[in-house]
Amino acid sequence: MIFGGLQKNSLIDYPGKISCVLFATGCNFSCPYCHNPQLARGCRDDATVFDEKTAYDFLERRKGFLEGVVISGGEPTLQKDLPAVCEKIKEMGYPVKLDTNGSRPQVLKRLLDDALVDYVAMDIKTDPANYNPLIQKDFNPSPLLESIQQTHALRQERHSESALPDAWFHWFDFFPYLAELNDFLVQYGGWLAAHDPEGADLQERLVCLVDRCTRALSTTTADPRRGRFPLRLCRVDPNLANAIWGRDGSIRWVDWEYGGWGDPALDLADMRWHIALEGVSEAQHARIRSKYVRPDDDPGFEQRLAAWDRLLLTRWPFLILRALWSAHNGPDRVRLTRPEVSPTALRARLVRTIERAERFRVS
Ligand code: SF4
Repeated sequence: MIFGGLQKNSLIDYPGKISCVLFATGCNFSCPYCHNPQLARGCRDDATVFDEKTAYDFLERRKGFLEGVVISGGEPTLQKDLPAVCEKIKEMGYPVKLDTNGSRPQVLKRLLDDALVDYVAMDIKTDPANYNPLIQKDFNPSPLLESIQQTHALRQERHSESALPDAWFHWFDFFPYLAELNDFLVQYGGWLAAHDPEGADLQERLVCLVDRCTRALSTTTADPRRGRFPLRLCRVDPNLANAIWGRDGSIRWVDWEYGGWGDPALDLADMRWHIALEGVSEAQHARIRSKYVRPDDDPGFEQRLAAWDRLLLTRWPFLILRALWSAHNGPDRVRLTRPEVSPTALRARLVRTIERAERFRVS
């Protein structure tokens, strides 16, 4: 196998590990925003290409320093030697992470079945229905959906959702979120009251929000448990940089950071109230709501949406409060670094998100 590039050290490509990244050449997609089109086209620049032996020699020298190896691309699953390369790297004692676009489920299945990869990151570009023509002409979404299904099954098999950071997975029930809100009140509400000139008032308003949310959820008929609604592919990165607005006011999301099977009502509520959409006008906000294509076979959608709206709106002030706490006190159990936003900006955002939640009446 020929590689088109090597990143010798990385702290971000393999979560929790110091890794290196081996870049495979060639790709079967043509994303308009591709970060490395030359590599994707398989162009072999003699200055950067190297063979497997060079890669293994490098990994041998880095034993004891590197903790994992990322195989990225291009699209690595196009390489027929990929399983053998993964096997060899694992024999050397390195866990292997694969970055893939998900287009080749049979290769992925083999790698997973034979335990040749320890971590799979799949880059889902947009709604599979939008791949044609944005990502690949005449795209057939079936293989991609199969790959997503495989990694989803893997996730359920190997991980308990509640043991993982809440930023990565959603709970499919209201009550863990309510418990979390009450935990936030205890952990950070008292600190706010003691350290901010208007903290006591803000804390009181947060208590009222949680009370309202608790009352609303105790009377709802919505049933959020898995198996009670048709699961769909969800979008969970509503960064405005990933949005393309159509002339008719429709919206398309590209470059999803993560896609998982989930509740479409939770998906929509998450997008609508996400802090990343704070700058969106009321009119655009209304369009996101009205243009969302909800499933026909889901009679509980509206009730669940109302409940998730209430819950996620209430949750955002607490997420900002946690970030504000971390800006003053350092990382907590979830946040690993200090926020990049200043404490002053975070406090202003806290007030805005409280006001936003207080304004909310109906979905
Ligand atoms: S899948 Fe990745 S490497 Fe291939 S074209 Fe898209 S961004 Fe580039």
